Amino acid sequence: MPEGKIIKALSGFYYVISDGEITQCRGRGVFRKNKITPLVGDEVVFQAENETDGYILEVKERKNELIRPPIANVEQAILVFSSVEPDFSTALLDRFLTLVEFNRIDPIICITKMDLTNDEKASRMREFADYYEQIGYKVVLTSSETEQGIETLLPELNGKISVFAGQSGVGKSSLLNAIRPDLSLKTDEISSHLGRGKHTTRHVELISVGDALVADTPGFSSLEFEDEMELEDLNYCFPEIEKASQECKFRGCLHLSEPKCAVKAKVEAQEIQEYRYEHYKDFLQEIKDRKPKY
Ligand code: GDP
Ligand code: ZN
Repeated sequence: MPEGKIIKALSGFYYVISDGEITQCRGRGVFRKNKITPLVGDEVVFQAENETDGYILEVKERKNELIRPPIANVEQAILVFSSVEPDFSTALLDRFLTLVEFNRIDPIICITKMDLTNDEKASRMREFADYYEQIGYKVVLTSSETEQGIETLLPELNGKISVFAGQSGVGKSSLLNAIRPDLSLKTDEISSHLGRGKHTTRHVELISVGDALVADTPGFSSLEFEDEMELEDLNYCFPEIEKASQECKFRGCLHLSEPKCAVKAKVEAQEIQEYRYEHYKDFLQEIKDRKPKY
């Protein structure tokens, strides 16, 4: 039996891509019994007489599941931040990184609109990029105007399901256009079509870019930390803090006022950026209070 990935779900049909061919499938009643609703991104086994008359026989186990937009098996999130308009914010970046890490999705940090930066701004962006690279993240500086960075970003998407995430106006639709010029979507048009307004239930679709699949709807529109997230989890969402924490005296050290805390020592030695540690503490407090701060 052929296997494929659902790239679109609409009006009771599932569109399954397999070896570059798309087959329109229906679900079988068995899903209703098992309470599985196939999701975009699901890997499935299907059977088809022809390209419009298929049936999904089995949904493979999911690696993860995003709620908004509803997509299974997202492997990568492109966290889009603009260098200017809206201004780059490390607080917001660290929040997105935390959400993405907690969901076990690999982030790529993308800083857009580099064509609009003056020398000073550009070198500040490079300094931020260097720090995030140093702690293990991929960072790409891009411009959808000059196509700077697009060649670097493209191969990173290969063979994976990715979602774009980021505030509105940072350039997500422009990036999508830059990597898939044939779509020629109008930026403002897609922005509204890119699911502003939390409660609109429009359908999600995966757009294929060569060997890559990219969601046409941004992810992580809610920036609140999940209820399941515990204080101890935060350590693992900050790679440099996690690394340092292995030398803290106490297991489960939260790096607040515990004695012999290796994290605090590294912050004092300026090996860990102070703002990262401050965000870590802010998020700890927020999880304690369970109310969003930004
Ligand atoms: P989205 O809301 O994140 O999808 O952002 P858009 O892609 O709609 O971009 C918002 C605005 O920024 C639009 O007016 C774009 O033309 C502009 N923009 C996006 N990327 C760039 C860029 O790299 N350079 C410049 N100069 N403008 C950009
Ligand atoms: Zn500690």
